[in-house]
Amino acid sequence: MSGAAERSGDKRPAQTLDALPVAALRGVGPRSAEKLAGFGLETVQDILFHLPRRYEDRTRIVPIGRLRSGDHAVIEADVDLAEVKFGKRRSLLVRVSDGSGSLLLRFFHFSRAQQQNFARGARLRIYGEVRRGPAMAEMVHPEYQRLAEDERLAVEERLTPIYPTTEGLHQLTLRKLGEQAVDMLQPGRLNEWLPDGLLAQLDFTDLLSALRYVHRPPPDADVTALEEGVHPSQQRLAFEELLAHHLSLRRVRLRARHLQAEPLVTRSQLLQAFFAQLPFELTDAQRRVIDELLADLAQPHPMMRLVQGDVGSGKTVVAAAAAIQAVSCGCQVAVMAPTELLAEQHFSNFEGWFASLGVKVGWLSGRVKGKARRQVLEALAGGELQMVIGTHALFQDDVAFRRLALVVIDEQHRFGVHQRLALRDKGRAGDSVPHQLIMTATPIPRTLSMALYADLDASVIDELPPGRTPVQTVAISENRRAEVVQRVRQACGEGRQVYWVCTLIEESESLQCQAAEDTATALAEALPELSVGLVHGRMKDSDKTRRMAEFKRGDIDLLVATTVIEVGVDVPNASLMIVENAERLGLSQLHQLRGRVGRGSAQSSCVLMYRAPLSKMARKRLAVMRESNDGFEIARQDLELRGPGEVLGTRQTGMMAFRIADLLRDRPLVDKVEAAAEQLLDKYPERVGSIIRRWLGHAPRYGQV
Ligand code: ADP
Ligand code: MG
Repeated sequence: MSGAAERSGDKRPAQTLDALPVAALRGVGPRSAEKLAGFGLETVQDILFHLPRRYEDRTRIVPIGRLRSGDHAVIEADVDLAEVKFGKRRSLLVRVSDGSGSLLLRFFHFSRAQQQNFARGARLRIYGEVRRGPAMAEMVHPEYQRLAEDERLAVEERLTPIYPTTEGLHQLTLRKLGEQAVDMLQPGRLNEWLPDGLLAQLDFTDLLSALRYVHRPPPDADVTALEEGVHPSQQRLAFEELLAHHLSLRRVRLRARHLQAEPLVTRSQLLQAFFAQLPFELTDAQRRVIDELLADLAQPHPMMRLVQGDVGSGKTVVAAAAAIQAVSCGCQVAVMAPTELLAEQHFSNFEGWFASLGVKVGWLSGRVKGKARRQVLEALAGGELQMVIGTHALFQDDVAFRRLALVVIDEQHRFGVHQRLALRDKGRAGDSVPHQLIMTATPIPRTLSMALYADLDASVIDELPPGRTPVQTVAISENRRAEVVQRVRQACGEGRQVYWVCTLIEESESLQCQAAEDTATALAEALPELSVGLVHGRMKDSDKTRRMAEFKRGDIDLLVATTVIEVGVDVPNASLMIVENAERLGLSQLHQLRGRVGRGSAQSSCVLMYRAPLSKMARKRLAVMRESNDGFEIARQDLELRGPGEVLGTRQTGMMAFRIADLLRDRPLVDKVEAAAEQLLDKYPERVGSIIRRWLGHAPRYGQV
């Protein structure tokens, strides 16, 4: 067995650590090997790249008087008092003191034997996290050790690494494995994949020293730097990790180049006719992006392009141009949106634009059932429908196309990479796949797009249609509601329309809808001269659609809505938006909502009503909204305030699970990743796979085309 060979000395050339199974480590039998494998740890290399999440400083004893809430610290103190409390939960409370102050230890699980450790006067070495308690500072379930009368116990020499664990895998086990793995770190056993030139250029230490340092920081380690993740050893590893992520997406993209796609080259009348019947002139930005799309579509390889454009920048018409191009080549197009409402909005837009051109557009959502559904499916399979618009329902197994050549996905940020690829495969025939166009109104800051969307080419619509005036935004405390109502009256009196958005106060959709109903009733009473409508998430889709259509026609002056209107509603005459409980919403959601006004030429405003007192974060968010109308700036601030995992939403958090890198903190590294990737792909293509494997394991979400 390799484990035996490992321990019996140098008779055979030592295996490289990426090929050495964890079973080679002491204390790892078949059962724990299996457990480790389940956690993605199969080789000694995997153990080495399972990096500490943080460190604990057990190198010195801290006087109780100097502890602050949140500190992880070692203390040495005497027991003053121990008692069992029978409250809501039985707990053991132990008060200890060290001359500089007192601290309470709190245990919810304890044995009689443990209790006896806490005899009055007993001396303890304690390690734990300090929290503020009702009476004094506390540690809940600290680690502790009883010391004999005059016992002097040495403190740890080094920072203690804390590894990510999982159920059934103990911190201590991982620490021991980490130690053994570090002992095996000898030159020749672990490949350095970064080229020497790059290491020198970036002034990075070599891989072995970096790994040794982070697993086993020397006694004189720079604690602050390590805790903040900015020590050169950590930065060197973070860089390699970012590089691995970037490379894996680049590989997806490169592989796509080897796939075929229908080249959509016909320069037909249809596209000209489409442009000619638009009621507006395209902006330069729209024109430029359309040209980029048409150039991509003409290639015999699949387009994979992300179109970013702020809310209201006019992405739909750009997508429509691409769709028309596909249709004029005799192909079919699928347009998918994340919500029914948004999909419907597209459907009515596209139908309006395309009907006079003789292009047939179908509609498919989860609600289309029975005969209606069968008809759509037949028309798609038979090719009578040139286009279909809908929700996820489009990608169910029984939906087949005759000749699907373009897939358009709106609001990309709600779908993940693997979903995106799965969708594309819908139109796959052998090595030929449809072109893909992805549109997002959530501007993705460069840092994120580099790490997450490197498999896509990007186009930006960086210009709003002319005649739009930026929305004026104010934040008003909700006890000035009467003034706000007055404002609504005035706007509607001038022939304008108003949105009143009720946001989630309770964590329940039905309560939210109830709140919206109550608000609508109250507003209808306060504003008897206005026609007040209501849409909320619990209404039937057909009712929602009808209500929105009434609002669009101007039959409704004031529309009370839950956040269902967040995306996809287009009513240029609406020039005022009131958002209740605005302090509860994130920046991107507020920006999306606000984008529903300011679509016509009238001066538009947005009133963010809040309930005092505001948290610091909420105050910052509202300030950002007041100061900026620029989606990119807002996204940047959002990233700053919340961090990338949050910004991308739960669906994407899996992808954001970096081991050591942090997109915000490591932004300067991110900027260097691209050039490094070029260099590797160009000069050392054989290393690329190894780098990806080392950091991303065999995660199926990457590298699959
Ligand atoms: P978004 O980028 O948010 O999806 P839309 O495509 O919904 O934006 O466009 C917003 C509104 O602007 C729509 O009413 C659309 O018809 C209109 N629009 C799009 N392009 C132009 C343009 N070049 N000039 C004037 N209005 C435009
Ligand atoms: Mg849109």
